[in-house]
Amino acid sequence: MKAAIYKSKQSLVVEEIPTPEPEPDEIQIKISHSAICGTDVHVYLYDIAPPNTVLGHEFAGEISKIGSDVTRFKVGDRVIGMGGNPPPGKESPLRKQEQFNYRLEGITNSRTRGYAEYTVCKEWEPLKLPDNVSTLEGALAEPCAVVTRAVRLSQQRLGDTVAVLGAGPIGLLCLQAAKAAGANKVIVSEPSEARRTIALELGADAVVDPTTQDPVERIIELTDGNGPHVVYECAAAKPSLQSALDMVRKKGNVMLVALAWEDVPLLPVDWAGKEIQLNTTFGSEPYDFKVAVDLIATKKFLLEPLLSETDTIKLEDIQKAFESLIKPSNQIQMVIKF
Ligand SMILES: [Zn+2]
Repeated sequence: MKAAIYKSKQSLVVEEIPTPEPEPDEIQIKISHSAICGTDVHVYLYDIAPPNTVLGHEFAGEISKIGSDVTRFKVGDRVIGMGGNPPPGKESPLRKQEQFNYRLEGITNSRTRGYAEYTVCKEWEPLKLPDNVSTLEGALAEPCAVVTRAVRLSQQRLGDTVAVLGAGPIGLLCLQAAKAAGANKVIVSEPSEARRTIALELGADAVVDPTTQDPVERIIELTDGNGPHVVYECAAAKPSLQSALDMVRKKGNVMLVALAWEDVPLLPVDWAGKEIQLNTTFGSEPYDFKVAVDLIATKKFLLEPLLSETDTIKLEDIQKAFESLIKPSNQIQMVIKF
């Protein structure tokens, strides 16, 4: 089968490798769509995966083979590659180890994943797709689960005013999750005009261009001088965390969703007196996936606006795609179609 092999820093090469066969407790998935995640872009940019890894965790497809002990699935079932409940002891290192440092310890699971024609996984790992959710939508279930977790771990309450900083895929999904969770008003700050337009299409009540307006001033103004109850930091730009802490309402909540890979400047004396909550979130757990898939099925997450025709690429073009994704762009989401 064809797979994109991570060779070294900023190098992905598509090669023929043996198709993985399922063990008795495993299933084989013929991948139909695999979304390129910002996390993999970081892996590529900062070289945090071992050579010869096949990356990609946001994928969906059809079960093509099952191991002899498998009872949960049959050949032909449409699934996403993640979201199942791990049996005790099989949780990811991040969930198990109290001091797991993702930046230093990187990707720990280096088996063949989503940037390949086939993958195998344990029977407990995938989730079945509802009939009305396409495999293209299924490929985006993981980022939906990430923002579902962010909103569930935040202090957001029904009727709150919310700001979302950054309208990449995570920001655009976070906006929808915040709305689904009962936000009364969502304001999105994003430098790209194309992305701001999509934010409005997806239900943002107002958008702010941080390159022409001071996002802190403007968002406080748009919230009657009080600031948002909750700010979701989905940008990972250098000034965004400080801006989030500056603009949030007194006793409000900043939820750090995006991962900055460089030092970000913070001046605590500016906002410590507001007695705010700063929360973090990372990845997602099985329950977040279940909620996310339900929200896709009920159209609370609209995924099509995130994808234009040019964003669907062939596996052969993966290196070019990653080269473009490490540069600033209007691009929102890229998906490999097999
Ligand atoms: Zn991801």
